[in-house]
Amino acid sequence: MSATIPPLPDDPLAQELDDFVDRWRLVDRARELDRTPAFPKTEFAEMGAAGWLGLDRKAEDGARALPPSRAGTLLYRLAYRAGTVFAKLSLQPGFSSVLGEHGSPALVERFYRPLVKGRRLVGNHLTEPDAGSDLGRLATVATRDGSEYRVSGVKSEAAFAADADAAIVYARTPGSQGLAGITAFLIPQDSLGIRATVIEDLGERWMRRGTVRYENVRVPIDHRIGEEGEGIRYVLPELARERAYLALIYLGVARASWEQTVRHVGERVVFDRPLHEHEAVAFPLVQDWGELESCRQFAERALARIGAGERADLDTSLAKTMATTIALRTIDHAIQFHGGAGYSRALPHEQRYRDVRSGAIAHGSTEVLLRAAARAIWRPPHGRAGPFQATK
Ligand SMILES: Cc1cc2nc3c(=O)[nH]c(=O)nc-3n(C[C@H](O)[C@H](O)[C@H](O)COP(=O)(O)OP(=O)(O)OC[C@H]3O[C@@H](n4cnc5c(N)ncnc54)[C@H](O)[C@@H]3O)c2cc1C
Repeated sequence: MSATIPPLPDDPLAQELDDFVDRWRLVDRARELDRTPAFPKTEFAEMGAAGWLGLDRKAEDGARALPPSRAGTLLYRLAYRAGTVFAKLSLQPGFSSVLGEHGSPALVERFYRPLVKGRRLVGNHLTEPDAGSDLGRLATVATRDGSEYRVSGVKSEAAFAADADAAIVYARTPGSQGLAGITAFLIPQDSLGIRATVIEDLGERWMRRGTVRYENVRVPIDHRIGEEGEGIRYVLPELARERAYLALIYLGVARASWEQTVRHVGERVVFDRPLHEHEAVAFPLVQDWGELESCRQFAERALARIGAGERADLDTSLAKTMATTIALRTIDHAIQFHGGAGYSRALPHEQRYRDVRSGAIAHGSTEVLLRAAARAIWRPPHGRAGPFQATK
C-alpha cells in the first residue's frame, strides 16, 4: 500500500539546496566518510563557495544572513537529505561565532571570513580530560609574557583535532577560579608546541576527534579574542543558539529513516498482511511522527525567538535534549521494523543511529541540560532569574 508522507517544510532556497546535494553526491559521500573517515575538504570548500556555510551569519562576513528560523528549516532539509555530516559542516561558522563577533578585525579577516567561505577550518577547544560538563574545573593556563601569552594544557574530545587550521582555545589566567578568568584565544594549529592525536569514534567519524596538547605555546596578544576573563560569557549565547540547530539536524535525519520505514511497512507482507496492519508496528511509527513534528515546531519557535533578539536558552536546551531522544527512538524503530536488513550496514539507519547518538553528549549532555532546566524551574534561593522569567 502506498503511504501518505507529509511534505517537507518549504523554503525559497530548498530547490537550490537539493540541487547542491545531488550535484556533489552528498548522500554517497556521507556513507563513504563513515567508512573512511576524513575531513571532506572539497565539499567544505564547495559549500562555502555556494553560500551553504553559516546560513545565519552576517552578510559582511560573506554569509547569507538568513533569519535563524529559515536557517533551521534548511539545515533540517540538508540533514534529511544527506545525514549529519554536511549539516554540521554548515554550522561551523556558527560554532566559531565567538571569533566572528569578538575577534579583532584582523583575526576575522584572516580566519573567520575564510571559514565562512570553506577555505579554513576552525576548531573549538573547551573540553579537557578533567573538565567537560563542569567547565569551572578548566585547567589550561595562559600566562602573559610581554606582548604574548604562553598557553599550556590538554584539550580533549575535540572535533577536527588533526584537521583544523586554527582553534578557539579557552584558557584561564593564572590564579583565577571557576568560570571567571577564562579567556578565548585563536591559536593556529601549526604553532610550535602543539601535538594532536586522533581517537576512533562510534559515529560522526569524519570529525576525527581527539586530544590536543599545548606545551608553552606562544600566542601573540592580538590573538586573544575579546577581553580577558570573558570567554565563557561570549560562548554561552552561541552554545544556546546552536543547540536549536542541532535539534533540527537530528530530527531531519530521523525523518528520513521514518519515511523509509513507513514505506517499507506499507509493502512488506508478514503473516499474510502488510506490516502496517499490525498495530504493534503502526502505533510506534504514528507516535514517532507526532513527536518528530512537535519537537521540530518547538525548536523552530526557539529560533524565531532568537531571531527576534530574545534569549531562549531553556527552550534550546530542551529542544536538543528531546530531539536527540526522539530521533534515536525513531531510528531504532527503523532498524527494528526493517528486520535483519535494518541491522545491517546495507541500509543507512545504523549509521544515522551512531551519528545522532553524539547529540546526547556533545554541546551539553542530556543530564547537564536537564539539570539547568530544573534549576530554571526550581530556582535556587538568591539565584539568578531563570529563563522562564524571560519567556513572554
Ligand atoms: C561528537 C562530539 C564532538 C565534540 N566536539 C567537541 C569540540 O569540538 N570541542 C570541545 O571542546 N568538546 C567537544 N566535545 C566534548 C563534549 O562537549 C563533552 O564530552 C561534554 O561536554 C561532556 O563532558 P565530558 O566528556 O567531560 O563528560 P563528563 O562531564 O565527565 O560527564 C560524564 C557523564 O556524567 C553526566 N553528568 C555530568 N554532570 C552531571 C550531573 N550534575 N548530574 C547528572 N549527570 C551528570 C554527563 O551527562 C555525562 O553523561 C565533543 C563531544 C562529542 C561526543
